[in-house]
Order: sequence, then C-alpha cells, then structure tokens
Amino acid sequence: MSMLRFYAVKESLNRVPLKVKETERRSSLFGSNVFNETAMRQYLTKDALKSVQNAINKGSKIDRMTADHISTAMKEWAISKGATHYTHWFQPLTGATAEKHDAFFEPSGDGMAIEKFDGGQLVQQEPDASSFPHGGIRNTFEARGYTAWDPTSPAFIYGTTLCIPTVFVAYTGAALDYKTPLLRALQAVDNAAVAVCKYFDKNVRKVNASLGWEQEYFLIDKALSASRPDIQATGRTLLGHAPAKGQQLDDHYFGTIPNRAMAYMRDLETECMLLGIPVKTRHNEVAPNQFELAPIYEEANLAVDHNSLLMDIMQKIAERHNFKVLLHEKPFAGVNGSGKHNNWSLSTDTGVNLLSPGRTPMSNLQFLTFFINTIKAVRENEELLRAAIASASNDHRLGANEAPPAIISVFIGEQLTKVLEELETVSKGKLSPKEKTDLKLNVVGKIPEILLDNTDRNRTSPFAFTGNKFEFRAVGSKANCANPMTVLNTIVAQQLIAFKEEVDVLIDEKSMKKDDAVFNILREYIKQSKDILFEGNGYDKAWEKEAKKRGLSNNKTTPEALKVKISDKAIALFEELGVMNKIESQARYEIEMEEYSLHIQIESRVLGDIARNHVVPVAVRYQNILIKNVKGLKEIYGNDFKKYAKEQLSLIEDISGHIEAINKNVTKMIEARKKANVIDSAEDKANNYCNKVKPHFETIRYHCDKLELLVDDELWPLTKYRELLFTR
Ligand code: ADP
Ligand code: MG
Repeated sequence: MSMLRFYAVKESLNRVPLKVKETERRSSLFGSNVFNETAMRQYLTKDALKSVQNAINKGSKIDRMTADHISTAMKEWAISKGATHYTHWFQPLTGATAEKHDAFFEPSGDGMAIEKFDGGQLVQQEPDASSFPHGGIRNTFEARGYTAWDPTSPAFIYGTTLCIPTVFVAYTGAALDYKTPLLRALQAVDNAAVAVCKYFDKNVRKVNASLGWEQEYFLIDKALSASRPDIQATGRTLLGHAPAKGQQLDDHYFGTIPNRAMAYMRDLETECMLLGIPVKTRHNEVAPNQFELAPIYEEANLAVDHNSLLMDIMQKIAERHNFKVLLHEKPFAGVNGSGKHNNWSLSTDTGVNLLSPGRTPMSNLQFLTFFINTIKAVRENEELLRAAIASASNDHRLGANEAPPAIISVFIGEQLTKVLEELETVSKGKLSPKEKTDLKLNVVGKIPEILLDNTDRNRTSPFAFTGNKFEFRAVGSKANCANPMTVLNTIVAQQLIAFKEEVDVLIDEKSMKKDDAVFNILREYIKQSKDILFEGNGYDKAWEKEAKKRGLSNNKTTPEALKVKISDKAIALFEELGVMNKIESQARYEIEMEEYSLHIQIESRVLGDIARNHVVPVAVRYQNILIKNVKGLKEIYGNDFKKYAKEQLSLIEDISGHIEAINKNVTKMIEARKKANVIDSAEDKANNYCNKVKPHFETIRYHCDKLELLVDDELWPLTKYRELLFTR
C-alpha cells in the first residue's frame, strides 16, 4: 500500500466517532419527526383529521379551506420541531429524490417577516424543473411541471426542512415521476381485488398492496473511495484485480458486524426511527463489507417513499462516519453484487393477508384464488416484469452467477406444486358432492398445515412464494421500487379483472355455484401458467435451454429488455387499467433508453481516462525503473547481463504488450462512442452503446488488471480491491 493511501485510512479511522449517543429507547423515537396520526390528533381539528383519513383510505379530495387549515397546523408542528424551510419532495425519473427548499418566512412589507405557508403552498408547487427527464412530454421552454401533495404519505422533517411527499406531473397531467403511475396501479389493484374478495367476504372494502424491501449495500472507507475516480463518477469499480482472499471462505456472512460499520448502522437506524421507517433487521451479507437493512413491511406507496428516503439518508449519514455507501448492483467484479428483494402481498381492510392460507377451507379457496391469479399474471407478463427491473447497473447482476437469472420464473415449493397438480384434475363443470368434500378435507383444508413445515427456500428463483407473500428478488439495489411495484400491481389487477369476468360468466350463464365456478377457472389457469413454474437451479445452463423451449424470454441486456414496454400489449395494458396512457408509456421507454446510453457513456469515458491517465503512465514509470535496472546490470556484467536480467526483460516486454493493447482498445472504444453519440433515436443509440461501446470495457480492464499485478505496489495509483474491501 502506498504511503498516501496508508495515511488516508489512518486519518479516517481516527475520525470515527467512538461513542454513539443511544440513550433514548428506539420505540420512543419512532415517528417523532413525522406528521403522523399522533401529531395530527394534536394539531388538527377533528374534521380536518377526518378529511386526511378519508383521503388516505378512500382517495377522496381535500378541499381548499381544509388544506389551509392543515398547512397551518403542519407549519406550527414543523416549527415546533425546529424546521425553518419546507419542500415538496418527489421522485423524478432520474432515480434520485428531488427537493427545492423554500423558507417559511416571507417579508410582510413593513420591514418585518412573517411565517407563511398556506394551503396553496401545501397542495401544489411549480418547481423550475425543466431539466428533469420527461421523454418529450413537456416542452422544455415551457418548463411547466407541477408537484402535488400526496396525503397518503405523511410529511416528515429531515434536518431543518419539512418535506412534503408529492407527485410530479406535467401541465397536461402526464406523469413525470415514479409515484404517479404507482398510485394509479395501487388504485387499480385495490378495485380489482376488492371485487374478487366479495366472492368470499362481503365486508371487504379496501385491499392494500404491501411491500417489504430488503436493501443490500456496501460500506467503503470514504478516503479510499475518493482515490478511485471510477467509484466517484459511476458508483462502481471499472477495473481492479480480484484480491487473493475474497469471499471464498464465506466468513463474513452473518458474522459479527465490524465496530465501525456497527456505529454507522446505529446512527442510521436512529435516523430511520425518527422518520418513521420501521427498520428491523441488519446483518452482514455474503461479500466483505456488504450489509443488509430491512424494515417491517408497509403499504406499498409508503414503503416505496421510505426506501427512496432511506437511500438518501444512507449517504448523508455515511459522511459522518467517513464511509461511502455503494448502492450499485455490482460495485466489484468477482464479488457478490447487491439486490433489493421486494416482498409483496395484498391485504384487506378486514385484516386478512390474501396470500396467507387461513383456517377454513373457504378462506383457503380465497388464498388459492389470489395465489394462482398472481402466478398467471406473471406467466402472461414475464417479459414486462423483466423490463421493470432493467438498468445498466442491474445488467451486471442478472444472469451472473449469483443473482436471479434474466429469465423470470416462479418458485412455489414442492407442497404447493402438489396442491396445484391435484386442483388440475378437478372435474369440468359442476363438482360432485364427494369431490367437494374430498377437496375440502384433503387438498384445500390441508394447505395451512403443509405450509407450516414448508421450509422450501430456493435462493436462485427471481420470484418466489415464501409462505405468505411473493418475493421479487431480481430488483436492483439502486432501483426505485416504484417501477417493479407499478408493473406487478398492474398485471395482477388486470388478471383479477379477467378472473372475475370468467367466473361471473359461469355463474350467470351456466348457472354454476360460485365455488364450482372458481374451481373451474382456477383449473384452467393452472394449466395455462405451468410454464412459468420452476423449482430447479436458476443458474443452471440447462434452465436457459428449457426456458427457451417453454417460450420464456431471456433478455440479457437493458435495451433488449425494455423493448416490450412499447409493445401494443403493454401499452394497452397500462391504458386499460388507467395507469399510464400511450404517451406516458412511450416517454418512459425513451427516458430509460437515454438513461442507459448516458450511463454507459460516462463509464466508458471514465474507464478510458483511468486507463490512459493513471494506468499507462504508471506502467511506463515502472518499466523505466526496470530499464534502468537492466542497464545497470549490463554495466556490471557486460555481455553476461542477460543471465541476471531475464525476468526484468520479460516484464519489460509484457508491460509493453499490455500498454499497446490498452491504447488500441481505448482508441477503438472512443471511435465507437463517437458513432453512437451522433445517433438521434434513443433506441438505436442505446443498442449501439450496448453492443459496440460496452464490449471494449472487458478487454481494457483485462490488460489494466494484468498491469496491476505486474507493477510495483508502491507506484500503483488506485486503491486496490483488498484495501477497499477489507479496510474496517
Ligand atoms: P426472510 O424472508 O429473510 O426469511 P421474513 O420472512 O421475516 O424474512 O421477511 C422478509 C421481508 O418480508 C421483511 O422485509 C418483511 O417485512 C417482509 N414481509 C413479511 N410479510 C410481508 C407481507 N405480507 N407483505 C410484504 N412484505 C412482507
Ligand atoms: Mg429475502
């Protein structure tokens, strides 16, 4: 390790706070910076509180007078907590969160200032947001996009700012953010699921989608990471040789958390508690310096907001501990990457988890209905689900030998597979009384028992049933969960609507009993969805072949995966369900394609720069040392020198070979980039970046990494993997 790097580590270790204040109990902190029900009860009139609750539970509108009252109350509450500014907090399609701070204070005209924040400012704002991606929806010179209050996600205080969760829409009402389509999808699945629930329980009025995410991340020493231009600019290492000791020993997984990381986590958890993010578990992950944080699940919209907020504060708190958080899906080659499992379920306002088997055969039929409809929805829309998790950074993970493959399949375990097999043999038309009793006693009635000791866990499945929820495991660690959640809830909504129509036809036109009709349709669905079920090893090459035979998609790159988003079928789906109109769907496609190109463009530039400005000069410097050495040997030994300079001479040659290869490939890469940059169509450009620019990365990296092994460690300018990964 060079002295420079050594001092960097020593310096940052010295600055780690030794003691973290943790005098207050966690439970007493929970939500104290959130304008939640407790705060609202204290600050709002009864009517205003009711109005907010109705907005949350029934989606009803809040009138302007009430909004004025709420804003005043919110402001008083916020000021009592030390807030001085407020902001509309939203999630533009850049992936980050955005905010524009305004002070509560306004000049009152007499040289004094008053504190002002009225209903208008609460409900709507017009940020100067012309530079957020909009895919052509909004004319930039018109620059009009509005943020509008989302009362279903409570306002919170971060630092000294009152943050108001909002949607971000164009003047025309078109969605410019992640939240708007998600809210529409949640409404769609609510309506569709309530209608189906009525078959089983007339009292159900609302169905909420729930989400429990599990956030994986790396913690890297900040000073060390600052010495890596690739980490600074792209969030990942673009080169670096694998360390001698990697994760082979698996000694990090569930091992003790290092003290310094522990201090960070404590601090982070305290902040989460204040913000009402119900974090619960923390542990080490497979790779060195990799960790995971998971909350108790929440209503999906709130859970998405909380995850976005979390990703934000993770970085801010890392600053205090001289860490850098890497949320990238694949920060280090050859080391496990990070994901964000999305645990998802549906539950009713009567307190029933629809994906959890109940105590009676009837409630189990309801469970089976939602279970099988979800599987069918995934079968019909597997390609769209794949598209929902596509990004340049997640491409490194999907299909690599660690994360779920790029093929979407559903794992349900041996026991439930048997249940579906038995249901598939249910007779067509009306069921005989004997068959019904049989089903009740031996199949449907037994589900809770078999699930109790069902410990099936298939870690390679991208979409697995885990007892009382589905776990969508292919979501990227950096991603905004809104995208996969929007798609999942939309496809399930569409499926439930279709199911209800089919069942009603059997009841109304074939005068079947409700149960018989449900069994009949489910039987057909099982047959039609079989191809998506897979219990084997998702990493196996044989599965790729098998999946192809079954007609499942295997889109390995983002540009390939995104295409389905503008298929007629997908556009019609989102339009029908009121989630996105055609313009919105197309705009999103454009934005994501552009985002992809930008991403690869930046990586390519950084890699080229590092290779030429860091690696090659240092290799030359080392080569000069060797040359000097060889000359010296010649001076001493005369013509005999070769006997003593064999290794040096071969090193000199090797270094020249790698330098040549690097320069040649960087030049080729730049040429490819030039060609890609003049392409107008977002789709063609992304394809060019994917197939013409990106392939050079590997070759350039290979030669740089070889040089890392050859060149004197003292001279090497970039912090190495072993230092990044094992500094604690
Ligand atoms: P693991 O899968 O790691 O064994 P758990 O089964 O306890 O652990 O839960 C994993 C994640 O699933 C947690 O984040 C939890 O909040 C979430 N989860 C549990 N139940 C639900 C549900 N009904 N809906 C959504 N997420 C859920
Ligand atoms: Mg999990």
